[in-house]
Amino acid sequence: MSKKHNFGAGPCILPQEVFEEASKAVLDFNGLSILEISHRSEDFVQIMEEAQQLVKDALNVPEGYSVLFLQGGASLGFLISAMNLSGSNKKAAYVNTGAWAKKAIKEGKNADLEVDVIASSEDKNYNYIPKGYSIDESYDFVHFTSNNTIYGTQIKEFPQTSVPKVCDMSSDIFSREINVADFDIIYAGAQKNLGPAGTALFIVKDSILGNSSHSNIPTYLNLKTHQEKGSMFNTPPVFAVYCSMLNLRHLMANGGVAGAAERNKAKAELLYNEIDSNPLFEGTCAVEDRSEMNVTFVLKDDSLNDEFNALWNEAGIVGLKGHRSVGGFRASMYNALKIDSVQHLVNLMKEFATKHAGTPA
Ligand SMILES: *Cc1c(COP(=O)(O)O)cnc(C)c1O
Repeated sequence: MSKKHNFGAGPCILPQEVFEEASKAVLDFNGLSILEISHRSEDFVQIMEEAQQLVKDALNVPEGYSVLFLQGGASLGFLISAMNLSGSNKKAAYVNTGAWAKKAIKEGKNADLEVDVIASSEDKNYNYIPKGYSIDESYDFVHFTSNNTIYGTQIKEFPQTSVPKVCDMSSDIFSREINVADFDIIYAGAQKNLGPAGTALFIVKDSILGNSSHSNIPTYLNLKTHQEKGSMFNTPPVFAVYCSMLNLRHLMANGGVAGAAERNKAKAELLYNEIDSNPLFEGTCAVEDRSEMNVTFVLKDDSLNDEFNALWNEAGIVGLKGHRSVGGFRASMYNALKIDSVQHLVNLMKEFATKHAGTPA
């Protein structure tokens, strides 16, 4: 069957080369299947170390940070980050930019912190990124969601503050250059832009480890546990780490994060230009806050929805339906999505507009 154009929000498309190499390793990895090797074997220790090193190379991670591959997804990351960054004030600031941020806020409370939502875009169904708010020095940390997968907004510039920053970067990590030194914890579920589901990446500043004021932090949720064991405290998700490693190798062989950022920008420009110039469609977010990863848009006349859905479904596109809380369409364009797929979608939008020329918007 011919390969479909995957615009799904996650689990995401990965490079075809990664799928091929991973499938070979399932059948034969030095005489065993990658699925049956011991996580204590030299083979796997090397995979883990290479994956960690590739994360450091890709993001220019400075000295004094550790890279961990854990389980529980970004959803457990909400709680892990809050528990590990609990400080003497037991008070945290959150920026509410959408459904994922809201879940992080809930877990901040579950970590026994007093939680203040210091800025929110909930008033406009999260179609913009709040700006210009101040961050009081008394917070133990401030939590951001860099890219709002559901609503299609992205933080372009993080506020300056001396308060430790933590960021859920699940849906845009490795898509653009970031300054890791600005953050005490970065976490991301792998399945958006790194690898298959099953692991979550943590990049953590070593100096915070073991300093949590939380009275009873469970062993697995304590990042120090994992840092001390080289991310092998318990059986790691071997296959997910292996595929992530393959994807990072592929990224580094193709211009690294800077190369990916350039390609992502070109893809986003292509699609947003079509949304803005096509008489039938419109974007749903503030233009300056538009995400380069998840592009949300609607038909001005939503009675045309079924017809457009049928058109892209028949044209080999999958995953374009918008999240139920936004409606319309969402084109997720993670690193591995080729610009040819975006061009294919743009051509369909043009075809649809030609067909409906003269239809009042
Ligand atoms: C998908 C997503 C999550 C949830 O990730 P899981 O790994 O499934 O727990 C959290 N945050 C953001 C921004 C996401 O896009």
